[in-house]
Amino acid sequence: MAKKSKKPDQKSGPAPTAASVFEYAPAPESRAILDLQPSYGLFVNGEFVEGHGAPFKSISPATEEVLAEVAEADAADVDAAVKVARRAYSRVWSRMPGSERGKYLYRIARIIQERSRELAVLESLDNGKPIKESRDVDIPIVAAHFFYYAGWADKLEFSGYGTTPLGVAGQIIPWNFPLMMLAWKIAPALACGNTVVLKPAETTPLTALLFAGICQQADLPPGVVNIVTGAGATGQALVEHPDVDKIAFTGSTAVGKAIAREVAGSRKEVTLELGGKAANIVFDDAPLDQAVEGIVNGIFFNQGHVCCAGSRLLVQESIAEELLAKLKTRMATLRLGDPLDKNTDVGAINSAEQLARIRELSDIGDQEGADRWSPPCDLPERGFWFPPTLFTGVSQAHRIAREEIFGPVLSVLTFRTPSEAVEKANNTPYGLSAGVWTEKGSLILYMASALRAGVVWANTFNKFDPTSPFGGYKESGQGREGGRHGLAAYLKATKAGE
Ligand code: NAP
Ligand code: MG
Repeated sequence: MAKKSKKPDQKSGPAPTAASVFEYAPAPESRAILDLQPSYGLFVNGEFVEGHGAPFKSISPATEEVLAEVAEADAADVDAAVKVARRAYSRVWSRMPGSERGKYLYRIARIIQERSRELAVLESLDNGKPIKESRDVDIPIVAAHFFYYAGWADKLEFSGYGTTPLGVAGQIIPWNFPLMMLAWKIAPALACGNTVVLKPAETTPLTALLFAGICQQADLPPGVVNIVTGAGATGQALVEHPDVDKIAFTGSTAVGKAIAREVAGSRKEVTLELGGKAANIVFDDAPLDQAVEGIVNGIFFNQGHVCCAGSRLLVQESIAEELLAKLKTRMATLRLGDPLDKNTDVGAINSAEQLARIRELSDIGDQEGADRWSPPCDLPERGFWFPPTLFTGVSQAHRIAREEIFGPVLSVLTFRTPSEAVEKANNTPYGLSAGVWTEKGSLILYMASALRAGVVWANTFNKFDPTSPFGGYKESGQGREGGRHGLAAYLKATKAGE
C-alpha cells in the first residue's frame, strides 16, 4: 500500500497478513516516451484546429497535476465536424472498396501496437488506472478490435446485416476505458463505411487526441475520423445535430435515457451501452481460490469503474464464511497507489465527482445498517482515492445493492438454492453481465439461460474479446458492440430483395 498517509474514511479490518506487509520497491513506468503538448485542439478534417468554447484542463487524478489544456467544441464546431464527416462519407469513404478501407484499419491497428507503450502510459496518467491494466488489457484489446473489424471490411456481404453504411455516426464515450470505448465505436463504424465524429469524456480526452495523431500517421483520408472534445454540452450538440445518421452512446443510464428521448421520432439510429449491477454468483462446489481471484478481478479491476463490474457478490450460505475469510486475506494484498507503478493493483478514482459519489453511496450503506470492511490501507495525500471495500449484511432493499456505485465497493448477499440466486441476481433494473462459479456444467447452462444479462461468464470474469458481442438487457441498454453482431449497429437493415 502507498506510504504517504491520509486516514481512510472506513473501519479497518484485521492486521494484514504476511503477504500484505511484503515491501516492494517502486517500479514506475517512465513518462519519457510521451510527447505531451501543453494544449490540444479539436481534430477536424485531419487537422488539429481551435475550438470556440472555453478550453478546459485534463488532470492526472492520482496527483491532480494538470496534464494539458484541451479545446472545447461548441455547437458551431460540432457542426463543422459533422459537415466534413458528411463530405468524407459521400466523396471518399463510402465509395472506397471494403478491401481498401480494411487496409487503413489494419494500418491503424499496427500503429497502435507499435505505439502501445506510449498509449498505455498516457491512458494511465489521464485516467488513473494501473499501468499493468492499460498495458496488458486495454491497449491489446484496442488493437485487437481494429484488427478484427479490419477483417470484416471486405466481407460485409457475409455479415447478415447488409452492406450499406448509415452515413455519419456521432459517438459519445465515457471515461472508464477511454481508448477501448473509442475502439469499440470507431473500428466497426469505419469498417462498415461510415465516417465518425467522436466525443471523448471531459476527464479523459488525451488518448483520443493521441489516436487522432495515429489517424494522421496512417494517412486516413481527412474527415473520416473527427474528435470533438468538451463536456456534456458538446455531446448534446452532437446528439441534436440534424445531419447525424446514428448516435452510438456509452455512459450512464440517466444520460442514455435522455438521448433516447431526444432522438425518438427522428430518423437517427441509436445504440446505447449503459450501466450495470452485475451479480457474481458463487456456488458451494466452486473452486474457492479461483473464485476469490474472479471476485477481486470483478470488482477491483479498474477501481470498479466498469459497467459490467461484479459489484454484487452472491454466495451460497454454506460457504459464505470460508469464502469471505479468503476474500479478506486476498484484499489485504492489493496494492493501491501510483497508477504508473507496475506493482499497483488499484489506481486512482477518476475524478473528484466520482469519488464524492462513491463516498455518498458507501455512507448510505453504513446508514442502512450494512457492515463496511476495508483492509488497512494508507491513501496518498493528493489525488482521488478510495480503498477496496466490502459490505456484508446487505439486503436486496439496500441502495448499495441496487444502485451502480462505479467504484471499488462490493456488496455481499447470500442465497441457498440456484433459483434463489437467479431471483436475486435478476432483481435489478440492469442486465449487463453476470458471473457463475461452480464445477457443474449443467448448473452453468441453467444459470446462463435463467440470468437476464447480456454476458454470462462461467468460472471467470471480465473477459473481453472482439469476436464476442457485448451489451445489455433492460436499463443496461440496447444494441451490441463486438463480434458480427456489432456490425448491425453501423449498417442499414435491408429487406430481402432490396
Ligand atoms: P455519463 O455521465 O453518462 O457520460 C458519458 C458521456 O456522455 C461523456 O462523454 C459525457 O460527457 C457525455 N454526456 C454527458 N451528458 C450528456 C448529454 N446530455 N448529452 C450527450 N452527451 C452527454 O457517464 P460516465 O459517468 O462518464 O460513465 C460511467 C457510466 O458509463 C456508468 O454508468 C457505466 O456503467 C457506463 N458504461 C457502460 C458501458 C457499457 O458498455 N454498457 C461501458 C462503459 C461505461 P462528459 O463526461 O464530458 O461530461
Ligand atoms: Mg484526466
